[in-house]
Amino acid sequence: MSAIYNNEMQEVIRRLLAELGEDPSREGLLDTPKRVEKSLQFLTSGYSADVDSVLNNALFTVDYNEMVIVKDIDFYSLCEHHMLPFFGRCHVAYIPQGRVLGLSKIPRLVDIFARRLQIQERLTSQIADTLLEKVQPMGVAVVMEATHLCMAMRGVEKQNSVAVTSSMLGIFRDDARTRSEFLELIKKPGLVDGPANHTLPPVACTVD
Ligand SMILES: [Zn+2]
Repeated sequence: MSAIYNNEMQEVIRRLLAELGEDPSREGLLDTPKRVEKSLQFLTSGYSADVDSVLNNALFTVDYNEMVIVKDIDFYSLCEHHMLPFFGRCHVAYIPQGRVLGLSKIPRLVDIFARRLQIQERLTSQIADTLLEKVQPMGVAVVMEATHLCMAMRGVEKQNSVAVTSSMLGIFRDDARTRSEFLELIKKPGLVDGPANHTLPPVACTVD
């Protein structure tokens, strides 16, 4: 990733540290503004990503018209109300109508919209709406399950709660059988991962 360093942003972060009662000139915090800037640039890099250039060379004409599902896509986003992370898993399905999208592009698309300031509801529908528009399938389904640190860390009740959002478009909205087939398939453990509860990688703070 190429980040353009922005001294103004680093100055704002230095001032924020001081406002919080910290001493931005102490040793442990000296490089923090630079690190925070770099990490924020990455976590919001979806703003500058171009959906078309990611997707356009990966659309293929086929006569496959069965459900395509990519499930358990890990994602990390920032809530726009608190700028704190929310993260979890995303499940995406569509039923092609003459063309398919390269499978690896679906997690890329999730990242493009997750790496912005978001609310989970909008994130879910942006992924679904974009797939519908670009692939023009018979329908699209997206389900997202996430933990919100603004709830878990700030002592709001139900700290272990998971928020679930979904967007069902086209045949997934109109046909109950298609929708329940999708919902059943995302509940089953993946063949590759094995049957265990697939857990998210541990969240650790590294000095980068
Ligand atoms: Zn929040």
